[in-house]
Amino acid sequence: MADASFLVRIWGARGSLPAPAATNLIYGSDTCSVEMRCGGHVMIFDVGSGAVALSSHLVAEGIKNFDLFFSHCHFDHIMGLPFLKPLYDHETSARIYAGHFQDNTTCRQMADGFMAPPYFPVTPKYFDADIKYVDFRPPETLKPHDGIVIRTISLNHPNGCVGYRVEFGGKSVCYVTDHEHVPGRENNALVTFLKGADILIYDCMYTESEFDHYRGYGHSTWEEGVRLCGLAGVKRLVIFHHRPGRDDDDLRQIENDANASFPGSIVAATGLELAP
Ligand SMILES: [Zn+2]
Ligand SMILES: [Zn+2]
Repeated sequence: MADASFLVRIWGARGSLPAPAATNLIYGSDTCSVEMRCGGHVMIFDVGSGAVALSSHLVAEGIKNFDLFFSHCHFDHIMGLPFLKPLYDHETSARIYAGHFQDNTTCRQMADGFMAPPYFPVTPKYFDADIKYVDFRPPETLKPHDGIVIRTISLNHPNGCVGYRVEFGGKSVCYVTDHEHVPGRENNALVTFLKGADILIYDCMYTESEFDHYRGYGHSTWEEGVRLCGLAGVKRLVIFHHRPGRDDDDLRQIENDANASFPGSIVAATGLELAP
């Protein structure tokens, strides 16, 4: 029988920069990296600092075939790329996707630009894996493997960003981070995109009371996440892209507040596993 399992694993949930501190042990300190496993296929969404632990996990499990999807390439989403050990293994096959560019930049140019002296000594030329760099433009639909459909949408973020909706075996998980909403204006395209999803991993960098101060920074609020879940009939909200200054107490408070308005909401923590 075909493997129908669908697993979501959070390897890093912070936004902007890692925040290691004794007060951040529960929700973790690493930046954005999410693994989704559909029928045994490994798909990675962003490689922030959380990808370092993910990398060790892939090596320990002997995973030599995966797809990596970038939402965009701000530091907190790409800083783990040079530390993804399987990319230095000649037995690995990987596809790396990017679709957020607003000019003719390619995914390969993005990797070359990020891993370049004098900022970093190792360039992508040192990757021994068989890597295919894939460029796309939202709303293109991606089909990385039989039975896996990934829809894409452009998000409102400086330098562009892509949201993903992964559909497999009748379940769907949306990864929508680094996106600023416009208060009071319904985003019909996004609501349609999220319609009926089982899980929404959403940019909840700010609270509504902080939001006014950070207009134009390209981020959203957990309150907007709750609103979107209501409008689109999403079953579960995963609060993601935590503001670096938030400690465990702050995040627990947010989890309580979000649960009061949308029961079942979860604050993403490093190591959290979910089945849609
Ligand atoms: Zn970010
Ligand atoms: Zn960003």
